[in-house]
Amino acid sequence: MKIIQVNTHLLSAKLTTPFAYSRAWYDTRTAMLVEIVTDEGHTGWGECYGPAKMTKAIVDEFAALLIGRDPLNTDYLWQQLYARFRDHGQKGLLIQALSGVDIALWDIRGKHFNVPAYQLLGGALRSEVQAYATGLYRRDSGDPLSYLTGEAENYVAEGFRAIKLKVGFGIAQDRAVTQAIRNAIGEDIALMIDANHAYDAVSAIRLGREVEALDISWFEEPVPPEDLQGYQAVKAALTIPLAGGECEFTRMGFRDVLTQRAMDIIQPDICSAGGLSECKKISDMALAFGIRTNPHVWGSGIGIAASLQWIAMVPDHTPVSLTPSAPLLEFDRTEHPIRQAILQQPIEHKNGVVTIPQGPGLGIDINRDALSFFKV
Ligand code: CA
Repeated sequence: MKIIQVNTHLLSAKLTTPFAYSRAWYDTRTAMLVEIVTDEGHTGWGECYGPAKMTKAIVDEFAALLIGRDPLNTDYLWQQLYARFRDHGQKGLLIQALSGVDIALWDIRGKHFNVPAYQLLGGALRSEVQAYATGLYRRDSGDPLSYLTGEAENYVAEGFRAIKLKVGFGIAQDRAVTQAIRNAIGEDIALMIDANHAYDAVSAIRLGREVEALDISWFEEPVPPEDLQGYQAVKAALTIPLAGGECEFTRMGFRDVLTQRAMDIIQPDICSAGGLSECKKISDMALAFGIRTNPHVWGSGIGIAASLQWIAMVPDHTPVSLTPSAPLLEFDRTEHPIRQAILQQPIEHKNGVVTIPQGPGLGIDINRDALSFFKV
């Protein structure tokens, strides 16, 4: 089997209501999809996280190195692309582009052998996964204490047992909002907070101490991703588990996080950290260090489907135990017109639980009408 085409699909959709996290406002959602076509009729789909126009340019550059190659040689092709561009991108956009290619190759491999991708990497540990609601962003009008508590109550009513709150808007507002959400959802729903690296270690410790009594399941990206010593300082000062890693890349990047024990929970993103090949290696490495893996997910249905193939194999946090504690699926609830539209069968939750698709490859079929509709 040979690769005969590498196509990139740049999609964009305007949002009805802009929303903000601690770093930026969103008024548009974009997606950069990779389609790899083979001479045996199999087509594989992948997705790249990050600035879509920039990852598109890189994947278009990769194409010449992929055409004519055997798509089943996933590790070989990963190493070739990585080595060819290593001098210019061991982290960031280059690895995000590589991630989309690797995911598409796994989709082809699964279709070729007519099994889900996870079946070819050792098989699934689970057939469904508890999802947590990612939302609770800021809006351009209204009182966050009121609209955020209302939104949180809706997630609980939908069946979610865990929700994540955006913080990083100043310690006073963060503290007030976290307290209000905890009051609104009660004690039985898990609550995580995510600062998107808005703070330095001093401020992150201060915020952590202010909310420590509110039973926070994890404090995500308290400090910038480059500052692993800052992570260590925050981790030493707080009893809240620290999470991070959506801005970290490849097994080489996570090697440093793990050996320094900078985080309690690592959150690689399959569309960013190197694809399914690399993320399986990263979660296996984390297990050896006794550090939890809980993937970051922020993309279209292809990113969600690829994440589910990986989550099917991510070890429990209490490995081979009578009381397993499985990883959660990050389930983005913000407006994203492209997310489910590109799938023939949307991936939805039922009472906060998502079933892992069982079809070949990523287990999804693409709606090409939606690709044309959102095409830039
Ligand atoms: Ca995050």
